[in-house]
Amino acid sequence: MTLRATALEELDEGSFDAVIVGGGINGAVAAAVLAGRGASVALIDRGDFGGFTSQASSNLVWGGFKYLESYEFLLVRKLCVSRNRLIKAYPDNVKSIGFLATLDKSSPFPPWLAALGSLAYWAIGSFKTHWPRLLRPKTIEKIEPVVDTTGARGGIEYYDAYLPDNDSRFVFSFIRSAMDVGATAANYVELTEATRNDNGWHLTLQDTEDGGTPRTCTAKVLINAAGPFVDPLNRELGLQTDHRIVFSKGIHLVVPRLAGEERVLAFFDDTQRLFYVIPMGRRSVIGTTDTRVENPETTVTDEDRDFLLKQINARLDLERPLTRADVIADRSGVRPLVVKREGSDQTDVDWTKLSRKHEVEASREKRIVSIFGGKLTDCLNVGEEVAEAVEDLGVPLEKDKGTWYGEPAKATRAEFYRQARLMKLDLLRDKAGVEPLTDRLWRRYGRRAFQMLDAIDQDPAMGEDIMENADYLRVELHLAARTEMVTKLEDFLRRRSKITQVISDDEVRRSAGLREVAEILFGDAADTKLVEYFGDLPVST
Ligand SMILES: Cc1cc2nc3c(=O)[nH]c(=O)nc-3n(C[C@H](O)[C@H](O)[C@H](O)COP(=O)(O)OP(=O)(O)OC[C@H]3O[C@@H](n4cnc5c(N)ncnc54)[C@H](O)[C@@H]3O)c2cc1C
Repeated sequence: MTLRATALEELDEGSFDAVIVGGGINGAVAAAVLAGRGASVALIDRGDFGGFTSQASSNLVWGGFKYLESYEFLLVRKLCVSRNRLIKAYPDNVKSIGFLATLDKSSPFPPWLAALGSLAYWAIGSFKTHWPRLLRPKTIEKIEPVVDTTGARGGIEYYDAYLPDNDSRFVFSFIRSAMDVGATAANYVELTEATRNDNGWHLTLQDTEDGGTPRTCTAKVLINAAGPFVDPLNRELGLQTDHRIVFSKGIHLVVPRLAGEERVLAFFDDTQRLFYVIPMGRRSVIGTTDTRVENPETTVTDEDRDFLLKQINARLDLERPLTRADVIADRSGVRPLVVKREGSDQTDVDWTKLSRKHEVEASREKRIVSIFGGKLTDCLNVGEEVAEAVEDLGVPLEKDKGTWYGEPAKATRAEFYRQARLMKLDLLRDKAGVEPLTDRLWRRYGRRAFQMLDAIDQDPAMGEDIMENADYLRVELHLAARTEMVTKLEDFLRRRSKITQVISDDEVRRSAGLREVAEILFGDAADTKLVEYFGDLPVST
């Protein structure tokens, strides 16, 4: 029986302390903290886990240096503390990274003022990152020759952190850890009806994959973690809240790697808004934008593409300007921004200055906890606030020992590295510039990586790459098939891995390993899943 089939069975007529609607970062941390503290939890998402906003971020874990511009010192402090906690708890998954910001004549600040700001930022973050520095144009030219310093007045380098894999994989790691301690989680399951009596919520759930007979379950508390859909869901549940959500659209373009070093390049665009070039393996990601929209469903338009390409071409010294043809992949999403419901006609405020803070609201009468806004960076705070709200609603939880998040202990890591060294795992790869396999497997799988060593030891073919340029071994596919609830091909290609963000759809389609990937993941249903994703049956070349 597959992981998902088991979860669907557990949901059917199940009775839970909390049912979480939404498997983005907010729902995922809610599941991890509640299950980790002894509650019986179910999480559902009508799409894939991390399949909406939480797959469209910049992959940055940061204190929000730019929010100092709007004097949001408290928010910046909170985010810095959260960033520091994540770096400490996830030493391999949340990595410190330098931000090199180049300032020219049109930038809103002179370099010396930006340098003062970066010192303040470093102090607000309790000096936990590498110290910042002021840079002359000549130094920028030397350390990052791709930056066009013709009109530069200077720059600064300060430090934050990023996710070397991707946002939705980070989200899934919380869902996986919730499942490991007994939570039930299922993707492609929608909440279609909810009624309440004295005993709690009676929920009707529809499997959006098979469209079969709906399942029902009960919950003492309902957690609305529907991200941009939090308001419509509350309306359906008959709940009036103090806060609501407005949307700001942001896009990213993935292009061939532009800068050599593992460093983020920051620039002010023509509208004096900061944008970045962020490393992603062999690629660079350019983003983002900030446009007010009414609808959470967005796509990258040609106008968006041309805007970002124009901005970057004007600031880099490239052999030839980047064009639309250089864009390997793109992504678009909306930031769910929180505003007060009363007196919150936001039509005349500066959209880009709206706060990025989150709110967790609990209704005692309805026994619903709603999560508004938030960032990946803020996820541990969100988890803790949700747990507090759930306790307030009468669900007892075990003491928070901080064990519901984080990578395995150092000793476990050392043992993995020892075993990998003994079997000479890293000698399987000797490609220059390619990350050692030991690092990669440990970062992606933690404790689950031990099984991979055994599998590779027994069958060396398990240690071979399965698709060209995808950085995935055969053994990883087998593990994903068993433990990562891959329901559609896209779940794997886009979210458990970042393959379709770093390889063009065309290259994926022509890849020799694609069929085997589908067969490992879906067995007899491989063809159906391939056609579902590509529209027809791809033939490798
Ligand atoms: C362009 C951009 C860049 C960003 N960059 C960063 C960054 O670098 N760092 C950072 O920390 N943050 C960043 N953010 C913010 C961060 O990505 C979001 O705040 C966060 O991902 C929101 O997560 P969520 O769980 O609230 O929503 P989502 O990820 O959207 O999750 C909500 C889920 O609920 C599901 N759902 C909705 N209704 C139902 C229903 N009725 N039944 C079942 N399921 C339902 C949806 O399918 C969805 O998967 C960025 C955001 C954007 C848009």
